[in-house]
Amino acid sequence: MQTIQKKEQFQQDLLRWYEREHRDLPWRKTSNPYYIWVSEVMLQQTRVDTVIPYYERFIEAFPTLEALAAAEEQDVLKLWEGLGYYSRARNLQTGARQVVEQFNGVVPNDRARISTLRGVGPYTAGAVLSIAYGVPEHAVDGNVMRVFSRLQRIEADIAKAKNKKIFEEAVMDVISHEDPSSFNQAIMELGAIVCTPKNPHCLLCPVQSHCAAHEAGVQEQLPVKVKKTKVKRVTVIPYVFIDEAGHVLVRQRPETGLLSNLWEFPYEEATKDNLDAMDQLVFDRYGVEVEGEPIEYEPYEHVFSHLRWFIYPKVVRVKGMLVPSENHQVVDYATLQQLPKPVPVLRLIEQLETNELFST
Ligand code: SF4
Repeated sequence: MQTIQKKEQFQQDLLRWYEREHRDLPWRKTSNPYYIWVSEVMLQQTRVDTVIPYYERFIEAFPTLEALAAAEEQDVLKLWEGLGYYSRARNLQTGARQVVEQFNGVVPNDRARISTLRGVGPYTAGAVLSIAYGVPEHAVDGNVMRVFSRLQRIEADIAKAKNKKIFEEAVMDVISHEDPSSFNQAIMELGAIVCTPKNPHCLLCPVQSHCAAHEAGVQEQLPVKVKKTKVKRVTVIPYVFIDEAGHVLVRQRPETGLLSNLWEFPYEEATKDNLDAMDQLVFDRYGVEVEGEPIEYEPYEHVFSHLRWFIYPKVVRVKGMLVPSENHQVVDYATLQQLPKPVPVLRLIEQLETNELFST
């Protein structure tokens, strides 16, 4: 991590560019804290172009904080219709009511008090404080983290909540005390139109000469964002039933969801509660009489994006002939080959072939 050395020059380069180039957005024509608050809430997870008409209609319908506080929730939600994340609208109205009841209708102008309002997190607090009140406070969201990760070559993972502090401190170190409103908006604007997630436009960047990532040529590798996907782990027991004709029972998966419409051997998900009784349960379900003990095959794993299967296959010889039923077919080896099957089933078939289980 490198700090920005020429801070005043950096501020000047950034602010001059912003003055010249910034987009003309409705919430940039006001310093009314209520309007800034509405715009910042609407802009969370939503594109600027989408927000503009919603913002204008909302402000027209509820021109003051008091009007929003006194409105019916249904009317507020109606104006939010299509923007999504409706809890934002409810929180905004609750926050407006808090301001009316607890702060005499004046949006607080310090971080401690404004943060007590419903739905006002560190970013919204900083945005309202700096833009509406000119308080030099950080307003760090994903865009700002991206810009600063490049400017200062910060390699901390921006997906980790605890690392946000690093970026907040980085902003506080260089924020303009003369014009924090334009400074924060300029950083946001830079992230939106120049220092974009992919292919940042470094040649057009007003602060290129201050940028550590550009100097090292690593801007494309920043920010570091490690995806955290929670992987569900499931133990799966497929049963390969083989009848006296050498045919096997297969079933087709449902039309929607994971591996939809593909064919597989019937399987059960094991839990510690059903494990002991599982074999008998499955045999009863399919009405099969078993010849000898089930043979346990080599376990293996299969990983989906959010799911990891631990697969413990069993081969079961049955007396007589298997019977097809809804979604289930009894097939010979040649037919089995033709059915579309997912990778974990193909891997099991490989094992069956190695063990010369099929009479072809
Ligand atoms: S020089 Fe490139 S990477 Fe650095 S801040 Fe500007 S656009 Fe972003």
